[in-house]
Amino acid sequence: MWGYLIVLAALLFALYKACGGGGGRSRSPNPFPADSRRPPSPLVTDKDARSSVLKRAFSREKVPDRLDAIVIGSGYGGLAAAVVLSKAGRRVLVLEQHGKAGGCCHTFNKKGFEFDVGIHYVGQMVENSFSRMIVDQLTDGQLQWAKMDSPCDVVILGDPDNGKKYYMYSGLKEHVDGLKKQFPDETAAIDRFVMLVKRIGRGSSHMTLLKILPLPLVRFLKSTGLLGLISPFCGMVSKSLSEVISGLTANADLKAVFSYIFPTYGVIPTQSSFPLHALIYDHYLKGGWYPQGGASEIAFHSIPIIERAGGAVLTKAPVQSILVNSQGEACGVSVKKGQDVMNIFAPVVISDAGIFNTYKRLLPENLQALPGIQSQLSMVRHGIGGFTVFMGLRGSKEELGLEAKNYYVYPRNNLDEAFISYMNSSRETAAKIIPFAYISSPSAKDLLWEKKYPGKSTLIILTAARYEWFEEWKEERVSKRGEDYDDLKNSFMEALMETVFQIYPQVKDK
Ligand SMILES: Cc1cc2nc3c(=O)[nH]c(=O)nc-3n(C[C@H](O)[C@H](O)[C@H](O)COP(=O)(O)OP(=O)(O)OC[C@H]3O[C@@H](n4cnc5c(N)ncnc54)[C@H](O)[C@@H]3O)c2cc1C
Repeated sequence: MWGYLIVLAALLFALYKACGGGGGRSRSPNPFPADSRRPPSPLVTDKDARSSVLKRAFSREKVPDRLDAIVIGSGYGGLAAAVVLSKAGRRVLVLEQHGKAGGCCHTFNKKGFEFDVGIHYVGQMVENSFSRMIVDQLTDGQLQWAKMDSPCDVVILGDPDNGKKYYMYSGLKEHVDGLKKQFPDETAAIDRFVMLVKRIGRGSSHMTLLKILPLPLVRFLKSTGLLGLISPFCGMVSKSLSEVISGLTANADLKAVFSYIFPTYGVIPTQSSFPLHALIYDHYLKGGWYPQGGASEIAFHSIPIIERAGGAVLTKAPVQSILVNSQGEACGVSVKKGQDVMNIFAPVVISDAGIFNTYKRLLPENLQALPGIQSQLSMVRHGIGGFTVFMGLRGSKEELGLEAKNYYVYPRNNLDEAFISYMNSSRETAAKIIPFAYISSPSAKDLLWEKKYPGKSTLIILTAARYEWFEEWKEERVSKRGEDYDDLKNSFMEALMETVFQIYPQVKDK
């Protein structure tokens, strides 16, 4: 109780200071003074019209004057930051190294099909919910969401032909009832797990609070152990997912079902932090939603807001370094254009390029060496790599019987063991022991798909992979990496396709 009061008082103080209280900085304009939603415009399918938003290549002339901020990277993290600043009247330049904006939200076209690379489904898009309200305001209500089927996720343990299937229904009550029906002897464990998921997962807002509170207060709360008492999310951060679920049940299938969503954040149950898992599990409790028109709609509806405020989102703009002034403050970036390097200045620089790129590649060497930077770097490592198969199919969703749901296929119910032996195997044997496949049909989830690609469908299959298996070809060009590379890639692809054919046999000749 006292802890909460201290945190609340500090929060109010921090807000007071942030609003210019006590004679500090001047008040920032409110980025959301009114509801900015407009009725959604029709889907833009014209290639040139889309390219003029998503593929504006960098040139000196396109850089706006008097910039207020530069954002490195056009993933949704970067775009969302740029949109909020733009809505507050700031002029922002987003620089993207790739030829198309969107980062993990971008889509690509191949052989007459469109594929998304990173966003396969999003939770908590219930109309008028807090998260939906944020996304609606960030896209002026132009981004529409299609609700997926319930069950939204199907977990298969064993062979898809004769293994066990577990259904993850959408909605708290439906989800819990569904699990209890599938595990009638485990009702207490299910209640306890879902209670923990809700309580701990929803406490993730405490992490935001820690960013707002004055740093000395955060340090005090942490060093005295008060933080763990005030926030169950922070208190359980060092508990692994395996540790928590082993305390709830001995049923191996149920443990696998509780853990099924870990590939979305890429850390195995013995090594993942329970609060992170709870956050993601809770995120999908009400089901899944898909951005109508495909994932590229996210960037497509964000960029015009940045442009309207005088900013720009430019592609083919690899940032080489962050420029720093004599006081050690970021003051701009240098961008590579052909053989030239161009410096662009702004009082604020935001990096969406990830911690390793930002600290190890973009910061000047003397800053990289700072103890604060080194200490942050020592706490993180790269996540597991991924391998994706993109399948283009003849036939509509109805003709092929594709569904707006995801399959998580695990050949074994000990997910950790299966992953560890796979990741430790050689590249020659790995494809024979693939521990997990995520299978989903983006076209079946997209209510607007038929407008763009009538009579066609897509499937995406994802698994984990080790970078080292493919490292040998890192300097070679795409499509020119030779026979050995193709053979290795095909060994994974064929194994994954076999799994797809067990779930959707009707797509075999399509
Ligand atoms: C395979 C996969 C599946 C996923 N599925 C889902 C899902 O179903 N649901 C979900 O919610 N999330 C999913 N995610 C996660 C989600 O896509 C990401 O968390 C989110 O999109 C990350 O956004 P970001 O802005 O942080 O980074 P990114 O999208 O990675 O953007 C970073 C951008 O920075 C650019 N960049 C890097 N260095 C430079 C430089 N020097 N100069 C200029 N630009 C630079 C990159 O090119 C990139 O465009 C998935 C991710 C992956 C990889």
